[in-house]
Amino acid sequence: MSQPRSAAIIGAGPAGFSAAAELRRRGFPGRIQLLDPDGLPYDRPPLSKAYLAGGSATALAEDSWYQANAVEVVSGTAVQLHPDSGTVVLAGGEEIQADAVLLATGGTARTLPVPGAEFLHALRTRADADALRGRLGAGKRLAIIGAGLIGAEVAATAAAAGTAVVLIDPVPVPLVPAMGPEAAAYLHSLHARNGVETLTALPVDVVPDGAGLAVLLEDGSAVAADTVLAAVGMVPDTALAEAAGLEVDDGIVVDSAGRTSHPRAYAAGDAVRLRSGGHLERRAEHWDAAVRSGQAAAAGILGQEPPEAAVPWFWTDRYGIHAEAVGSMTRSGSSVERGLPGPGYMVFRVSEDGTLAGAAGIDAGNSMRAARRLIALGKPVDAAALADPKVDLRRLLRPRP
Ligand SMILES: Cc1cc2nc3c(=O)[nH]c(=O)nc-3n(C[C@H](O)[C@H](O)[C@H](O)COP(=O)(O)OP(=O)(O)OC[C@H]3O[C@@H](n4cnc5c(N)ncnc54)[C@H](O)[C@@H]3O)c2cc1C
Repeated sequence: MSQPRSAAIIGAGPAGFSAAAELRRRGFPGRIQLLDPDGLPYDRPPLSKAYLAGGSATALAEDSWYQANAVEVVSGTAVQLHPDSGTVVLAGGEEIQADAVLLATGGTARTLPVPGAEFLHALRTRADADALRGRLGAGKRLAIIGAGLIGAEVAATAAAAGTAVVLIDPVPVPLVPAMGPEAAAYLHSLHARNGVETLTALPVDVVPDGAGLAVLLEDGSAVAADTVLAAVGMVPDTALAEAAGLEVDDGIVVDSAGRTSHPRAYAAGDAVRLRSGGHLERRAEHWDAAVRSGQAAAAGILGQEPPEAAVPWFWTDRYGIHAEAVGSMTRSGSSVERGLPGPGYMVFRVSEDGTLAGAAGIDAGNSMRAARRLIALGKPVDAAALADPKVDLRRLLRPRP
């Protein structure tokens, strides 16, 4: 396809917003329309942290940015996409026409497959956070089903507000695949230390109980709460893509430049699944991956080379600590610990070939950045140096004399 003269972006989360910004950064002079039911783009990570605690900041950019960059924000929901003509049909019947269409539709909170699921809160949107934040505070009881990233963050925010919190998960130590067993165990132990009750249990039913709810567990016991949040993951929003005939396989299938199976349609963010080297990767579901894939799709739209793939990175904040992980903590090999669980603690995953596959860290900013670069370099690392907190990891990045 020749250079497009207009782009329509469906979904104004981090992926859609970064695609618009990147199109302009790369000098695209054409029309850009950014479509979302919520209008102006906003960010989701604060929704379980500062925003849930009563803060207000969620915008991805100042309002003036859109005018300055000639990005038209359209409030509306796309209900149909005709990729052959580049037509996007909105819920009210209006149509948007563009030479290139980017699907950045993210996902929705997964619902818990138990009776009574209709009583549960979810947390994916600002409206979800608004509904939840009035239900936190002293004298209130919150049960959270799912102790992964979002469930754990909400537990910390709610406990800090004085809420009595019970966190329920069938897995004794959640987040092991993401953080590795050592860092995951430390993170999980913070709940009890901060007054949050953790239960290893499988919820099977949710029923009204007086003015509140009871979560019935497989072992026959029950947890009473005023509010119950299901934080059990997300489902990619692929309905538009599927109806438009694009290739979808638990995510809209894209290449490294966000190209879908139709030459006029691109996709990015939580809704996509990357085909790389002949196989389909897992969906990323993290902020940095969404931003980078939006930028890559912008390059794809312009027929330019996307930036090189980055080593995966995500963070999570809870109980005043900032935890991060980069690369893969599940690669076969061995673990190397640095320091003791607490601020500065790190765990490295070293592959069988001696290169660094992944790292998880607690309040370990500079060292995590160095670890990410070490993973990208792909050269063998010295396990003793990794284990020694006195060794500045940035030193390992330098070529040996
Ligand atoms: C509560 C919470 C906390 C998080 N915290 C972290 C964190 O600490 N660290 C981290 O790395 N990641 C975190 N994440 C994950 C991160 O926010 C997501 O990976 C990121 O938002 C994905 O960006 P996206 O643009 O692909 O999708 P989204 O942010 O979901 O945006 C998609 C947008 O598309 C719109 N849309 C969908 N369908 C249509 C349609 N038909 N027409 C028009 N618009 C449509 C939606 O309204 C939405 O605004 C968190 C997520 C949540 C929910």
